[in-house]
Amino acid sequence: MAAINQTPRHATRVQDAQERINNFKEVSLGFDDETMHEEALRCLNCKTAPCVKGCPVNINIPGFIAKLVENDKDGALDVISQSSLLPAICGRVCPQEKQCENNCVRKLKLGGSVAIGALERYVGDYGLQKGTADIKMPEKKGKKVAVVGSGPSGLACAADCAKAGCQVTIFEAFHKPGGVLIYGIPEFRLPKKNVVEKEIDKLRALGVEIKLNMVVGKTITFAELEEEYDAIFIGSGAGLPMFMNIPGEDLNGVSSANEFLTRSNLMGAYNPEAITPIYCGKAVAVIGAGNVAMDAARTAKRIGKGEVYIIYRRSREEMPARKEEIEHAEEEGIKFVLLTNPVEMIGENGRVSGLKCVKMELGEPDASGRRRPVAIEGSEFVLPVDQVIVSLGTSPNPMIKNSCKDIEFSPKGTILVDENTNRTSVDNIYAGGDAVTGAATVILAMGAGRKAAKAIIEQLGLN
Ligand code: FAD
Ligand code: SF4
Repeated sequence: MAAINQTPRHATRVQDAQERINNFKEVSLGFDDETMHEEALRCLNCKTAPCVKGCPVNINIPGFIAKLVENDKDGALDVISQSSLLPAICGRVCPQEKQCENNCVRKLKLGGSVAIGALERYVGDYGLQKGTADIKMPEKKGKKVAVVGSGPSGLACAADCAKAGCQVTIFEAFHKPGGVLIYGIPEFRLPKKNVVEKEIDKLRALGVEIKLNMVVGKTITFAELEEEYDAIFIGSGAGLPMFMNIPGEDLNGVSSANEFLTRSNLMGAYNPEAITPIYCGKAVAVIGAGNVAMDAARTAKRIGKGEVYIIYRRSREEMPARKEEIEHAEEEGIKFVLLTNPVEMIGENGRVSGLKCVKMELGEPDASGRRRPVAIEGSEFVLPVDQVIVSLGTSPNPMIKNSCKDIEFSPKGTILVDENTNRTSVDNIYAGGDAVTGAATVILAMGAGRKAAKAIIEQLGLN
């Protein structure tokens, strides 16, 4: 029996923390060719491949890594492409440590899990470098599909339907396509020009038309779409921010993380020369501890260059953000104020000047299985801040619900679908991504878009 490769996991290259807080360039720089190969050699090609079970779209992980061992990048790309359409994006933003890498047999005793995400990114970037020259426009077969929203669910559904011969049109409310990939996740984590826009170029090469500034339900109605298209996919996401509903939340200087990030990413406000600059305080409190909160905190640090605090009512272990994001935020000097809950936003002359908080302790587990935070009596204190960014999660915007009365929704406002086909209660209307699940992940949204596309293709008799 061959000896097991004992090499520990290779770290990816990153931009130095002190340097990167002064720019918006990508933080993680991925693997170079040599490190990629050495890391690929660590994979044990396990027969049972537990890593694959941890992947929401079941990428053949040992299969693509085996191709990398042979330096066959095209082969690796082919293997991944059978399951994932966005490897350069998912390799960068998927929470691998909770998915595939969490199941890797090397995790505990053999030098750490194989760096599956970094290898996937390497292959995805290779695919993007190849450009669109190899993409052949599929022959059209006379069926028309409308896609509402251009986030990962809409892009994936559009790509698969176009490949099957449908004439696909995406309707996007914003002036740029990509959904959260463009307006939510910052440039330093997911480059727009070199990654997201190149993925979208591939769709255009497949003949997909993208109509921007089109708010379905306002600019165009569902009835109009139903009249013209044979099937509709709704991938409108969950972009409506939740607030704390505590006194002072209407003060100047308080905003949702969604608004803050959209202004920075989509309107280019992080660039001081932008025509729509953004206010950024010298002491900023970001309430919440998910990916969105980390992105807002790290953006605020880069723009305002002052103190930035993450305020979270539970402990570090319960923080929902990706491990890498938490570590990068800490390296960049973001301060974590844990077991702390805001109770009031205090203002002076209409502008926020402090965040009144109470200290918390963890009690018995609640319905989610996590220990419930309980306020410690008499522990109130005021954190002096001049900006507060609220990042407590989002829910679907009610516009789709109000404009398409025939579709069934859950009490939380998410669209109800058949779990095998992602079909809604209306025969030719499908839905997927955050609009169905509530705020979730890129890979789940992409998987849902593909599942719906498969059902649409079957319904239209194109398979
Ligand atoms: P979205 O990406 O939300 O796209 C929906 C699109 O529909 C938008 O472009 C919107 O403008 C458009 N739209 C909405 N209503 C209409 C309408 N009526 N007419 C026309 N268009 C409409 N996930 C990860 O896996 N890893 C991460 O690291 C991560 N970080 C995140 C950071 C931030 C700041 C945010 C906000 C989310 C993050 N997520 C992350 C979550 C992930 O981005 C989402 O789960 C995913 O983008 C959902 O995809 P979607 O296609 O359902 O919708
Ligand atoms: Fe390779 Fe780890 Fe998957 Fe085994 S579990 S096949 S070592 S990536």
